[in-house]
Amino acid sequence: MGSSPFLPLPSTLSIDAVEQNHNLLVVSLSAISSVIPCPKCGTPGSRIHSRYHRTVADVACGGQHVVLKLTVRKWVCGSPSCSQRIFAERFVELVQRYARMTDRLLQTLQSVGTTTNGADGARLSSKLAMPTTGKTIIRRVLELPLPKDPSIRKAGIDEWAWKKGARYGTILVDLEQRRVAALLEERSVETSTAWFVAHPQVDIVSRDRGKIFREAASAGVPHAKHVVDRFHLQKNFAEALEKFFRHHKQSLKAVAHQLAGKAHPAPKSAASRQIDQEREQRHQQRVRRHQQVWTLFRAGYHKEDIAAMIGIGSSSVYRALEHEHPPAPETRRRTDHVAGPYLSYLSDRWNQGCHTAAQLYEEVVAQGYPGSLRTIDRIVRQFRPQKTQPVSRQTITQKNVPSTRSVALMMVRPAPHRTKEQIAFIDQVVSRDPAIAMAFTLTQEFGQLLRQRQGVQRLEQWKAAVRASGITELIRFVEGLADDEGAVANACTESYSNGMVEGFNAKVKLIKRTSYGQAGFPLLQRRVLLHPAAGEAFDKEQRQRSSRRSAPAEHLEVLASGSTPTTEAEARIA
Ligand SMILES: [Zn+2]
Repeated sequence: MGSSPFLPLPSTLSIDAVEQNHNLLVVSLSAISSVIPCPKCGTPGSRIHSRYHRTVADVACGGQHVVLKLTVRKWVCGSPSCSQRIFAERFVELVQRYARMTDRLLQTLQSVGTTTNGADGARLSSKLAMPTTGKTIIRRVLELPLPKDPSIRKAGIDEWAWKKGARYGTILVDLEQRRVAALLEERSVETSTAWFVAHPQVDIVSRDRGKIFREAASAGVPHAKHVVDRFHLQKNFAEALEKFFRHHKQSLKAVAHQLAGKAHPAPKSAASRQIDQEREQRHQQRVRRHQQVWTLFRAGYHKEDIAAMIGIGSSSVYRALEHEHPPAPETRRRTDHVAGPYLSYLSDRWNQGCHTAAQLYEEVVAQGYPGSLRTIDRIVRQFRPQKTQPVSRQTITQKNVPSTRSVALMMVRPAPHRTKEQIAFIDQVVSRDPAIAMAFTLTQEFGQLLRQRQGVQRLEQWKAAVRASGITELIRFVEGLADDEGAVANACTESYSNGMVEGFNAKVKLIKRTSYGQAGFPLLQRRVLLHPAAGEAFDKEQRQRSSRRSAPAEHLEVLASGSTPTTEAEARIA
């Protein structure tokens, strides 16, 4: 029997037998060649000394686990002077010496391991008829060499968090090839400098304004042009703006109250539309019944008979006959004020997962709520369409004053990305306070300057305008730019920025989390660099999903990516 299209094998091997046992295929193989050179001296073996069997696992075939049973011949070396008197033949194209699995199975498990983690990988490959353990997968991935250093020229550098606030590493991204170039275990001047020294061809470094990466790049690639990342610049500016607003809290408060007073009713949700429809139907039914009563009454029927004929109580008939006009539509009873003091409690409980009106009713009654179950039910039904999102108390009370941070962020955000409420808020607050108006103008100009890369001259004009504004916090920000002047100026001219690095950073975070902490750095490094999709940064949507546990820095991603606000802090100002 020769080879089989179902089980490709090196041409030097032939299939002797195939045994099938449930989901296990045992394929017996032996070498065809009669001339086997000695691995030591190259002289062909003169005669066969003995035979033995060696079993190795192979990739699955038609959903069946495959085991190869190799007949290995031991040869006597043809050269009498050779120190290797006896040697066993090898199958270099199929399996390495001493290995218990074929090369192709090894590669398959490594791919599984770089895509998933050890435990999931083992589950998956066992399901695919290549049974193995998580430990084996991890060991196999760790055997993989790291990709050779690419000839990176434009580098984006940033930190990534082992543990937020406690321990950081460094990520380097090739901004031209759009791939992670390196993942370093530490965030230190030494390790980053060493990396730059090993990559002298780097001529652009996009980085934050921190000292570590600045020093490392200056020392490692002194000829390279530094570009301060626009995302970090905007972030630092927003922080300065936030400090400024701390001295203008009164204006923010006044405008928030003013807007809350005039607030337009929220657009009707599907639930409240349904409530309206039901109310309308009830009204029509009452009108029909009223007309029936009067028709029968005019026809001379007795009131008790009318009640029996229509199927309503006689008191309802008496009431209908009091007025000839059909009843007016039911006006929505103003019971909301009864529930008012409990709204905040209800929304909290809803967000905790209690969605049963009856249960919530009991809870608020215990707190002294005097109203009806129906009112609670109506309130709860209005929560329902937003089931997937936490209910924001803001939509009910409209009295929260946005935080200084929120206001700073809504101003830094490009105009098309502000909500209607934010636009109204900014309009009001700007018209109320000239200092805020000035700060807002400067904010807008700074954003345009960076986004449109309006150049160094425009940057200098803007700095002069800030100094002339007399706003201490922003002047301090401008003064702070001086020590990194060249790199800041480049941010206003160069197109390179760290947006892509942020994307890869999110991916590192995701991979780190799916490794259940068992990984250790070498495994994380391989999973980041050798992942089948190593060249694909997260798109905007994935990035949002992965950064939903909103931390302050990630919160600012909207500035870089221009996405719509999703985090809780931003919902608060909406
Ligand atoms: Zn020999």
